Amino acid sequence: MPNIKLKAGLEIHQQLDTGKLFCRCKSILRKDKPDFIVTRKLHAVPGETGEIDEAALFEHLRDREFVYEGYYDNTCLVELDEEPPREINKEALEIALQIALLLNCKILPVTQIMRKTVLDGSNVSGFQRTVLIAKDGYVETSYGKIGIATICLEEDAARIVRREDKRVVYRLDRLGIPLVEIATKPEIKYARQAREVALHIGEVLRACKVRRGIGTIRQDVNLSVNVDGKQGARIEIKGVQEPRLIEKTIETEVRRQVELIAKGESKPEVRKALPDGTTEFLRPLPGAARMYPETDLPLLKIPRELVDSIRHALPRLKHEMRQELEKQGLNKELIKVLLDSGKLDDYKELLRVYNKPDFVAKLVALWPRELASQASISVEDVESKINNDIKAKLLETVKQGKLDESLVKQVMQAVLDGKPLEEAMKIEKPENLEEEIMKLVKEKPGLSINAYMGLIMSRFRGKVSGKEAAEILKKILS
Ligand SMILES: [Zn+2]
Repeated sequence: MPNIKLKAGLEIHQQLDTGKLFCRCKSILRKDKPDFIVTRKLHAVPGETGEIDEAALFEHLRDREFVYEGYYDNTCLVELDEEPPREINKEALEIALQIALLLNCKILPVTQIMRKTVLDGSNVSGFQRTVLIAKDGYVETSYGKIGIATICLEEDAARIVRREDKRVVYRLDRLGIPLVEIATKPEIKYARQAREVALHIGEVLRACKVRRGIGTIRQDVNLSVNVDGKQGARIEIKGVQEPRLIEKTIETEVRRQVELIAKGESKPEVRKALPDGTTEFLRPLPGAARMYPETDLPLLKIPRELVDSIRHALPRLKHEMRQELEKQGLNKELIKVLLDSGKLDDYKELLRVYNKPDFVAKLVALWPRELASQASISVEDVESKINNDIKAKLLETVKQGKLDESLVKQVMQAVLDGKPLEEAMKIEKPENLEEEIMKLVKEKPGLSINAYMGLIMSRFRGKVSGKEAAEILKKILS
């Protein structure tokens, strides 16, 4: 049996859920027709070392034209490289610091925003801004610790709309969306360990304010294989879709490398991950020295006080939150609904208005979902009509004893149907309620309390709370 040694590292890029990093545009990906189009051509120039970068040459040989599609209210002159960058987005910086601290990293007190050369046209300027904010962290795995080498905050690139013969068409809406880039040290020895690292980092990211869904996270693997002392080349695999696939992708590439090393044909390259766990050639590995300082921006200072305040309010990881919610008395199902909804922050905030975990969790996560499915609309549509202000007002009213808990979902329904909140909360009690209930009992004597309650609630649904009806019924029956 040959002695095969793997050395691998992960690089994970995650979009943050904030506005853009170096301008004040919103981070929204759009499908509608662009407002304008700009065309540019890229020329490879000798780098600081005096040589044309191999990757630059490769791109130059293709001699392409780049077309950029933009929107007036969603892209500005910063994306078009016609205006210097604005100050770094504070919220994005704070989220990146959270992530860094959750990954046990040391934060840099002073750091320099850099320009990283990008030659495929995906950045109008030909460079991507990136800033190293933390280093030297670690994650635990069942095989031991894996070091986190660096954490950078950077701008996402423009996205490809289509490739034509000698043109590539990009859309500018994605350009400038904040990304954190997490790079582990090349200490991973097993494919399964890589998966553990990716899963743990994924849990950390989801505990913070990051964007969700397809295309918001990108996972790259770099690796080299050594067979019986014969060292293979460095390989970068771009865009592995999910942690489960990381394991398979690495295993497949290791087998390929073992064969190549035996034939003496292992050479450095960048490969693209495919959904079936295999990879295909993408481009030669770019050379080093692709970074230089961003002179339009001052040094970035990360004050000690800021780091301390973030450290003291770090979000909890999902498995920790589950435990906390269980302690608050929520059942497993409701915990799942709440965690899946991504509304945990709203839940905590509203809990301060009305400290009844089970009820607030339903209001925040369960009922919007139920109302949405009943009306065949999206939860987002429900949330846009029943926002947090409305939820807080409902809770306030319940707390004051002016609205019964059991009527809240129905008030939400009325608001969703277009009634103003104040009006929806005015639930008219039927006149002579007590008499009506008395009549009902007399009509059908000898039923159980539950049976009477069923009858009462179906007749007066939405007009009386269950609690009130039960009280009247008890009085009558006794
Ligand atoms: Zn902008």
